[in-house]
Amino acid sequence: MTTTKNYDVVVIGAGPAGYVAAIRCAQLGLKTACVDEWLDEHGNPSLGGPCLNVGCNPSKALLDSSHHYHHILHQVKDHGITVDGARIDVVAMQRRKSKVVTMLTRGIAGLFKKNGIERLVGTGRLIGSEKVTVTALKGSNEPEKQLSAKHIIIATGSHPISLPQTPIDGVNIVDSSGALAFEEVPQRLGVIGAGVIGLELGSVWNRLGAKVTVLEALEDFLPAVDRDLASDALQVFKRQGLDIQLGSRLTASARTETGVRISYQGPQGERQIEVDKLVVAVGRKAYTEGLGAEQAGLELDERGFIVVDEHWQTNLQGVLAVGDVIGGPMLAHKGSEEGVAVAERIAGQAGHVNYETVPWIIYTWPEIAWVGSTEDELKNQGIDYRSGTFPFMAIGRARAMGEAAGKIKIIGDTNTDRILGVHIFGPQASELIAEAVVAMECDASTEDLARTIHAHPTLAEAMHEAALAVDDRAIHF
Ligand code: FAD
Repeated sequence: MTTTKNYDVVVIGAGPAGYVAAIRCAQLGLKTACVDEWLDEHGNPSLGGPCLNVGCNPSKALLDSSHHYHHILHQVKDHGITVDGARIDVVAMQRRKSKVVTMLTRGIAGLFKKNGIERLVGTGRLIGSEKVTVTALKGSNEPEKQLSAKHIIIATGSHPISLPQTPIDGVNIVDSSGALAFEEVPQRLGVIGAGVIGLELGSVWNRLGAKVTVLEALEDFLPAVDRDLASDALQVFKRQGLDIQLGSRLTASARTETGVRISYQGPQGERQIEVDKLVVAVGRKAYTEGLGAEQAGLELDERGFIVVDEHWQTNLQGVLAVGDVIGGPMLAHKGSEEGVAVAERIAGQAGHVNYETVPWIIYTWPEIAWVGSTEDELKNQGIDYRSGTFPFMAIGRARAMGEAAGKIKIIGDTNTDRILGVHIFGPQASELIAEAVVAMECDASTEDLARTIHAHPTLAEAMHEAALAVDDRAIHF
């Protein structure tokens, strides 16, 4: 007979939303178990979900490696350094990436142990609002387990969207995970989708020598990004060799002897190109397969996201949901913040997430980062604003680094001067945006930033100058 183990909280899913929720629950003294079904490339259970295994961190490992290579080939000579015979060993690069992943995922396992979280490997299935069954994964003889908990947190995340015109075969037509695992540089790479993931993966292989064509169905480049910065970024990425074709919708694909023939409808009509590998990066969708949502009566919206209220409560009493599976920005840090907040609410505290200050980053080079509203959004809402822009080319540190492309734009409310948005296209934008997030979290004004001393020479001086520029008093431009 199967016995039922009792917990205060059972978390289903150990991605950045679920594992953080589990750790915070345990820190708050709640008896916590976390169920996860992720298997790594060798078929071993691995915590961290796609973010740690095939997403955020491995993509940044390859972005960094490819950036070093590209820098050595094209930029170090400006510093008076000659490097003869620089070559790329993709297998070694991938080995390094895998080591980074292993270190990080084992780190989560260590944190689970340290916090006394019970880790269960298998598929978690909701049975009503207080019970979960855990079914062992294929190849395991573990019997099914029954868990019962006062609170269940669902954090089952998301999966890549596939296109019927071009089914993934894992060899020539791949999703983002496949594109992170190539063992040689494809000569010709096609990418469907010029979103965050498509641009990051396209950049990796472009830097390593692939001829990259990116097809994007939308006419606008990066519609969520400030128009001014998106247009600068498009020019820079095209100069880097990314052949980004906007308004180009894939109609069909067919395997050829050497690769894939892609047919698409573009501004010039029907076109065809042939590539060696094709990456489909058209977005992600909520993942609830195996969760037993329908049988348990869990409400999903028309796009498959779990419906929650402002406190992440689903329609089933005691069942909460966080992360990609509830929609909103599909970002690791957004899910982690929800994980913390939901744990604190279970423990009777006032956990909350300020969705207005969620930072967005695209790890191209230069990087794109932003927080808050764009000018277009403010215009549509009828909000009066002033903006100040400052280019990195007028920043001493950027010049010294040889990284003078891009700019920072700060937008403030005309009446209150409260910062409404900060937009960066430039070197280390991913780090610089943190200052803007803190400023917005503290309800700072552009004048607060303008009166804050920024060390010289730093890239952050561009933030200071952009804040001064809101009031037309930038010093160095
Ligand atoms: P997930 O990370 O999807 O985790 C869900 C977990 O639940 C998985 O381990 C899954 O196996 C498990 N699971 C699902 N169903 C069950 C079940 N029934 N039982 C047991 N386990 C189950 N975001 C960023 O913020 N920054 C980035 O730089 C970034 N880069 C990315 C790059 C790529 C290539 C990709 C693909 C994504 C990237 N993302 C990035 C997005 C980020 O990975 C997601 O937003 C994040 O992983 C969502 O976290 P989550 O915890 O909600 O779900």
